[in-house]
Amino acid sequence: MMMQTTLAEIATRGYVMVGVFMLAVIATVNMSSESAGVLFETYPLLSVMYIATSITFAFAFLVDLLAYIDAGSDQKRALSGLLTFVDGIASINYLVLGTMPTLYFLDAKTGHPVWILRYIEWAVTCPQLIHWIGLVSAAPESQTYKVMMLDYMLLFCGLASTQFLGAVSLTFFAVATICFIFVMKNIWSMTGHAIINEEEKELPLTTRALHLIRWEILISWGLHPVVEIAKQQFGLSFEASEACVCVFDYAAKAGLALIMVSVNLEQLKDLRLSRLQSIVDFMAGVLKASHIDLTKYVKQARLDPEVGSWLSEVLGSNRPVTTVNRRRRMSMHTVHIRDVDLDTWDFDALVLSESKLEECAVQILKTSVPSLETLKISEMKLREFVQDVRAHYNKTSFHNFAHAITVLHACGKLGQITCRDVCSGVELVAMMFAALLHDTDHKGLSNSFHVNSRSDLANQYNDVSVLENHHACVGFRLLNDHHLLDQLNSQDYTCFRKTVVDCVLGTDMAVHQEQSKKLEGIADCGGFDESALQADPALRRFLMAVVLHTADLYSPSKTFDLAQRWAIRLQKEFNDQVRPKTFTSAAQKDYEIHPVGFHCAFVPQVKLEKQLGLPFQSFMAASGKQALYKGELGFIQFVAKPWYKQMVRNFPSLQLLCDRIDDNIQRYTQLSEVKKDV
Ligand SMILES: [Zn+2]
Repeated sequence: MMMQTTLAEIATRGYVMVGVFMLAVIATVNMSSESAGVLFETYPLLSVMYIATSITFAFAFLVDLLAYIDAGSDQKRALSGLLTFVDGIASINYLVLGTMPTLYFLDAKTGHPVWILRYIEWAVTCPQLIHWIGLVSAAPESQTYKVMMLDYMLLFCGLASTQFLGAVSLTFFAVATICFIFVMKNIWSMTGHAIINEEEKELPLTTRALHLIRWEILISWGLHPVVEIAKQQFGLSFEASEACVCVFDYAAKAGLALIMVSVNLEQLKDLRLSRLQSIVDFMAGVLKASHIDLTKYVKQARLDPEVGSWLSEVLGSNRPVTTVNRRRRMSMHTVHIRDVDLDTWDFDALVLSESKLEECAVQILKTSVPSLETLKISEMKLREFVQDVRAHYNKTSFHNFAHAITVLHACGKLGQITCRDVCSGVELVAMMFAALLHDTDHKGLSNSFHVNSRSDLANQYNDVSVLENHHACVGFRLLNDHHLLDQLNSQDYTCFRKTVVDCVLGTDMAVHQEQSKKLEGIADCGGFDESALQADPALRRFLMAVVLHTADLYSPSKTFDLAQRWAIRLQKEFNDQVRPKTFTSAAQKDYEIHPVGFHCAFVPQVKLEKQLGLPFQSFMAASGKQALYKGELGFIQFVAKPWYKQMVRNFPSLQLLCDRIDDNIQRYTQLSEVKKDV
């Protein structure tokens, strides 16, 4: 069985140790004879030596205490706590020995005093040191107790050998030596076992520390009998031998404290490195947000290959999911959106600043669904999250933050009509968050481009709903990074996650036809059945995915002016006007375009596709107003209108939107015909 020592156990044991030792102090001081006082005159250095040792132990005690307070884990706190008691008791021991006369025996052979208090102190603290070693090497409890017993035997025989002469003394000394050998053998095997199985056991200290500990114990404990022999056989003076004992005693106990501190310092070094890494990550995020690509400079600089490849990875724009925390400081003033009408379907996100869009998102998430109550989060937390989401949208022409807020707004409006009464609070909140997150980190490149160019993302998601999978993944990571779902129980968390994933994946145009057919089938049967919805969570998720997809197809259902502005933006994104650069071979080199895998955030897609010899859809290359009108007409007539028609069949109160679409068809038709006539 492994040692399972809690902090409370260590504390109890520590107080018992202190109690026993203090009783021993009182007893040995009271039982001391007058001759004890004379010893200080006989050996004038003794007092100074003991007090100095006491002070150094007091320092060790403080170090332990600091390590205890600063410990990173309960396990380390327990280890430091144990040493705090040991070094504290040792400090008191030497203070008493140096300032008060205490009980002593005389060594039968040398006539030197043998302090009883010292042996009691050893009896109290040494087994704790063994327990400590057992803990750091995760040794079996039985082995630790065996070593403790051997240690008591060692102390007893050591003390006894000083009280007899001749064969008896020699026998005790021999037994003590055997005990010592067994103690050391066991400590050696405990630490050795830990060093070999380091990875399995998750040890609190490093293997280097374990090596230090075993050698430190061997030397400092092993030198005690050497001093004893030197005293008895070679006439080492009492003061000299006491000086040695003080030093070895200090090494045995405080040495462990120093090893622990050195381990803590080592880990502190790692911590600093990880902080440095997060700063580099942050700077990379800022550079990327400003569309600055530094990877080519990294390549030019003669860096250590490992450092270079790491930097390229951090600075490169092809990281699948950014770990960069791009959260910026909260603005000091509240953004007012009193002039923004969130009630109208024709909410115009394109005229709003980013901070106003953020505020709109907060208001919509707060009022259209019970986000704050369901997730048990503060408005401040929600606002911080929205700001971070904004930072994770790119400044593309169409799939940008304004698009996300428009979809969020539309989703809120549609949700009121379609699913408010049949879905749970958690589901509705999840659908709204899915709307906010549904295009995160969209780089203005389509799924077909990713697949045809064999991009990293396409590879990651096996060509299936590449972008949508990526959006859901980045979005969910943001939710977790901000601990927005921490208050949900596991059932609600699963429900939330399933809803977000289903809704975001449902925005893939590749599943549009399939969804459309299913929606038509439901309309044929008289619309969504309330009891069927209540019984079937998958059907509810389908309904919510349909709502989000409808919201995502908002542009032809807006007033003509607004619809046209969004259409122009989509054409622009298709036309790859994001970075109007001709792709000379030099530029191609700049953007590191090669047939397999591309490494640039914003590239003219069709030009790129042409350049790479990839298949491309002709509507993406078409530019100019006539192409826009024709393109929109085609999109509305073959995609948007049939879809909205099925929506109206299921939810008749949406008829207004279908009327809008018909109006817009008329306007686009007129425009394209007028142009033709001229
Ligand atoms: Zn979208």
